[in-house]
Amino acid sequence: MLPDVIARARALFDDLTPLRTDCGLVCGGACCRPLEGENTGMLLFPGEEAYYAALPDYRLTATEAGTLLTCSGQCERADRPLSCRLFPLLPLLREDGVRVATDARAKAVCPLARQSKAALLPEFVSAVREAGRILAQDDAQRVFLLRLTAQQDELKALQRQFRRDAHV
Ligand code: SF4
Ligand code: SF4
Repeated sequence: MLPDVIARARALFDDLTPLRTDCGLVCGGACCRPLEGENTGMLLFPGEEAYYAALPDYRLTATEAGTLLTCSGQCERADRPLSCRLFPLLPLLREDGVRVATDARAKAVCPLARQSKAALLPEFVSAVREAGRILAQDDAQRVFLLRLTAQQDELKALQRQFRRDAHV
């Protein structure tokens, strides 16, 4: 059973994806391909772990960033975790509220993440913002969003540093 706040956020994406067409046709479903030998996976939001612990074909790994979900590369649409539904975007929590950002980890795999958000369906971008607003009303989710925001800022700063170093 999912916490109500997660169920509401997930439901926003029951019929909504980044493009009107199947974006997996562009990349061969790159974000769903498991990478052998690598500790990849989708970050679960608080309360999602118990849902997957009860399902076969999923593996949970505790990391410093949170619990990662590894799948077989195929899933029932209803079972998609929130991170997969939001991908390649994320709702970040700033002092002035929820901001929609491209996931810094997505650029390596997702062609959509390398474009501006304007290339995505506006309804999808709005739903990511709304999911962030719903989550931010819950204490545990708000703490998680703040941690996620700090991790993304750190990762983006590192990426900028690598880009600068590469040009020296
Ligand atoms: S990697 Fe990006 S473009 Fe490809 S299926 Fe995933 S979200 Fe769509
Ligand atoms: S859970 Fe589903 S949507 Fe998410 S990576 Fe696995 S196959 Fe793709």
